[in-house]
Amino acid sequence: MTTYKITHTSSITAASSFWTKQASRIDWVRPFEQVCDFSKPPFAKWFVGGETNLCYNAIDRHLATRPNQAALVWISSETEQTRTFTYRQLWEEVNCFAAVLKSLGIGKGDRVLIYMPMVPEAVFAMLATVRIGAIHSVVFGGFAAASLAARIDDAKPRVMIVADAGSRAGKIIPLKPLTDEAISLAQHPPKHVVIINRHLDASMQTLPGRDMDYAALAPRHEGEIVACEWVDSSHPSYILYTSGTTGKPKGVQRDTGGYAVALAASMPNIYATQPGEAFFCTSDIGWVVGHSYIVYGPLINGSTTIMYEGLPIRPDPGIWWKLVEQYKVVAMFSSPTAVRVLKKQDTSYLTKYDTSTLRYLYLAGEPLDQPTSDWIENGVGVKVIDNYWQTETGWPILSAQPGIEDTPRKLGSPSFPVYGYNVKLKHDETGAAVGPDEKGVLCIVPPLPPGCMSTIWGDDERFVKTYFGMFKDEQVYTTFDWATRDADGYYYIMGRTDDVINVAGHRLGTREIEEAIQAHKNIAEVAVVGVADALKGQVPVAFAVVKDTSLVATPALIAVHEKEVMATVDHELGAIGRPARVHFVTALPKTRSGKLLRRAIQALCESRDPGDLTTIEDPSALEQVRNAVA
Ligand code: ATP
Ligand code: MG
Repeated sequence: MTTYKITHTSSITAASSFWTKQASRIDWVRPFEQVCDFSKPPFAKWFVGGETNLCYNAIDRHLATRPNQAALVWISSETEQTRTFTYRQLWEEVNCFAAVLKSLGIGKGDRVLIYMPMVPEAVFAMLATVRIGAIHSVVFGGFAAASLAARIDDAKPRVMIVADAGSRAGKIIPLKPLTDEAISLAQHPPKHVVIINRHLDASMQTLPGRDMDYAALAPRHEGEIVACEWVDSSHPSYILYTSGTTGKPKGVQRDTGGYAVALAASMPNIYATQPGEAFFCTSDIGWVVGHSYIVYGPLINGSTTIMYEGLPIRPDPGIWWKLVEQYKVVAMFSSPTAVRVLKKQDTSYLTKYDTSTLRYLYLAGEPLDQPTSDWIENGVGVKVIDNYWQTETGWPILSAQPGIEDTPRKLGSPSFPVYGYNVKLKHDETGAAVGPDEKGVLCIVPPLPPGCMSTIWGDDERFVKTYFGMFKDEQVYTTFDWATRDADGYYYIMGRTDDVINVAGHRLGTREIEEAIQAHKNIAEVAVVGVADALKGQVPVAFAVVKDTSLVATPALIAVHEKEVMATVDHELGAIGRPARVHFVTALPKTRSGKLLRRAIQALCESRDPGDLTTIEDPSALEQVRNAVA
């Protein structure tokens, strides 16, 4: 592990020279004078005095070297379309979009809210916004009107860019009516709504004066060249709200220069991807992973980014691997949740296509359990790398970094801290460092590295209080996730700090119990929550999705299966972790970003109100929980 260790150590102890070197990976119109200004902790300003532009780095600078290389390939299994844009064509599209925005009076610092499905125009809109120094806020196209209205009121956009509709499993999902409803709920409605009409929803209504059709605006600006607005390195590039798994979403504000440098460095170092190669991230542009690794990271790197609209199982569960073969994808980025969807399908699809170009599959967003990791690694024959990070950081905190050194991986572990991150595990009450294999809160000693959030949009105080206020004596950034580190320095994420069960004085992470249950071969997915118990304080209760439902077809079979699952936990973890009940369901309640809504499940188990559920993916999953515990 020598190269990794040397790199990581120098990134912390000699941060200035380390990041100066990384900063040369992007183009600056004006060089920076100071690497990091940390004079007002915990606020960090990176590359002070430097001027650059995110869009310039993502597109313009490649025009000389790779104008005819595919920059963006969009495939939709929903509409059965494929569109390819070379760097030159992408530049033209973005210039036109930028000209349209300017014609609507949008300029530096204005907010542009993008509420779009996975279509190329969403990418054009993002790049056009940062091109003119405006600030985008992309809201996931699956959010309903109330969630959208809350984000409108926080970001106060001057313009919104929306599509008439998205499509999911062949079903049209109108977005414009939700936009109208959200605007009517909002206190700070935008002046204009620019509509990308995909002609999916024939019943779409428009409001003359406010609503404008992009197809009518664009021809007036075709061929126009809009100069990049050079902005200060710390100028906000975008606002992105966290998933809202644990409460009110926070508007994460990102800078320009630090973010560009962090992503530029991550492509070769973490994703081991060279310019000209194809990168396929299956996330959505509405999430941080989509921002960083569908749009900005691959483009800054001069890669070909593959953008996919559709489900991983349509037209069949081989679609992803077909795209890997077709576009010679070298690195892929997805989530454990998505892999678990595939796991319920016919495994033969994993080997149907030639995926030999694929070097690594990165998975992030949720704990990656060993059986899932094993299944996909062996099924496809690709090395799986667990990535741990947050909307707040914008790029990985913990990950193997094969571009630096191909360190051995350990299943269930996202390996080591990424260069730039000074990670510490701390006792949640005392703040003392914990020893090997001891559970601690994962913290980052500031300054946060380049690319991480600058503040919470419009609320510096909340930023300091929320993220840096856990310990009295030391101002460190808290992730609110539990982790352990083994004697070899490998980290293991144990779940969120509010996901700990206290059984008769023993503190158990919900994840430990979930992992134990997952060792049972009929379990596809499971959620464990701690439920109040008069005798033991709390007891674990499990909700499991089974692969073979015939095994739980009758009450008698259920009883047998439940005992079997409990026995698995006894064997894997010990009787202390044995769930009091195992309920079998067909789906688990999750947020739109695929994260388990443990707090809502727990509330139902304790006959409490499940709280704000605007971010839930499938309300019927919660009904199943309600019925199971009734
Ligand atoms: P909110 O902060 O609004 O409640 P959220 O935390 O779900 O929402 P995100 O920023 O999308 O919003 O998610 C980051 C969190 O996801 C991490 O803090 C961690 O709990 C979890 N996570 C991400 N990657 C991993 C991983 N590889 N292993 C385990 N957990 C992960
Ligand atoms: Mg969070």
